[in-house]
Amino acid sequence: MSEPIYNRVALIGLGLIASSMGHAMRRWGLAGEITGHARSAETRQAALEIGFCDRVFETAAEAVAGADLVVLAVPVGAMGRIAEEIGPHLAPGATVTDVGSVKQAVIEAVAPHLPDHVIFIPGHPLAGTEHSGPHSGFATLFRNRFCLLVPGAAPAAAVARLRRFWEGMGAVVEEMEAEHHDLVLAVTSHTPHLIAYTMVGVADHLRRVTESEVIKYSAAGFRDFTRIAASDPTMWRDVFLSNREATLDILGRFTEELFVLQRAIRMGDGETLFNYFTRTRAIRRGIIEAGQDTAAPDFGRVKAQED
Ligand code: NAP
Repeated sequence: MSEPIYNRVALIGLGLIASSMGHAMRRWGLAGEITGHARSAETRQAALEIGFCDRVFETAAEAVAGADLVVLAVPVGAMGRIAEEIGPHLAPGATVTDVGSVKQAVIEAVAPHLPDHVIFIPGHPLAGTEHSGPHSGFATLFRNRFCLLVPGAAPAAAVARLRRFWEGMGAVVEEMEAEHHDLVLAVTSHTPHLIAYTMVGVADHLRRVTESEVIKYSAAGFRDFTRIAASDPTMWRDVFLSNREATLDILGRFTEELFVLQRAIRMGDGETLFNYFTRTRAIRRGIIEAGQDTAAPDFGRVKAQED
């Protein structure tokens, strides 16, 4: 068990990511006290019953009072309003961070509302599941997962402290510029989610023609798409609305590549298809070699049972 890294951590939003952080902080003794806020009384009550918060508050302003770390863990589109509410109530010297899946839009929405006496270090743990809400969290969600920090001009000591906090929860911390973050995530996460949503939508239309065969004979590829497409609608709506340019850029490239493959199929051009699939297979091997192929939720649950 480590020394607490922060005396009081305020979790704003008490869903999958915040509850996982709460469990992890408790398990590895990273926070003296954990306070929390969510919109609904039901979620706040669940956080207390499950036990990943010591105290919960009806307003975000009350929850952040006296906290030396404030974590914004609400959908990206809600961050600006929350920042506006908590700004006047933040303790001098506190660090404010977030876990949003998009970085430029969050910085633009949050930074103007924060007083000069706090330190803002945006962040994004690359860990999640298709589940949401306070019951879905578990302590090992972040283990061996990257957490990207966007420190900007934040003081080095505050960045090092937040880095130790995430490392205490098992994450591998790296630093990145916001714009670069949004482009990388558009390729690795946002556009793939959009494609999964679309593919499941196509199958849903087809289902009306083939009755229930799409579900009955659901094969591995489609099943994986349906798992991704079950992700939280609010969160993903906000991701696309706030990472619009990078997503549209990658979607444009995707469409061009799709046309290349479509043409190869139409022309019976097996060589183009074979060479394309050979290149993409090498990317999969690279991911396995980098140790990023294990699905976080399964890994987490297995570890949680072991511990
Ligand atoms: P979640 O499980 O759906 O929980 C969201 C929480 O935010 C709930 O406690 C909800 O409160 C609260 N909330 C929602 N809208 C709000 C609003 N307008 N004002 C105040 N509170 C509001 O979400 P999550 O998966 O933990 O995601 C939280 C953040 O982490 C998002 O920014 C997301 O982009 C980011 N993230 C998610 C993943 C992932 O895979 N899920 C991975 C990395 C980062 P109620 O319960 O009371 O409605």
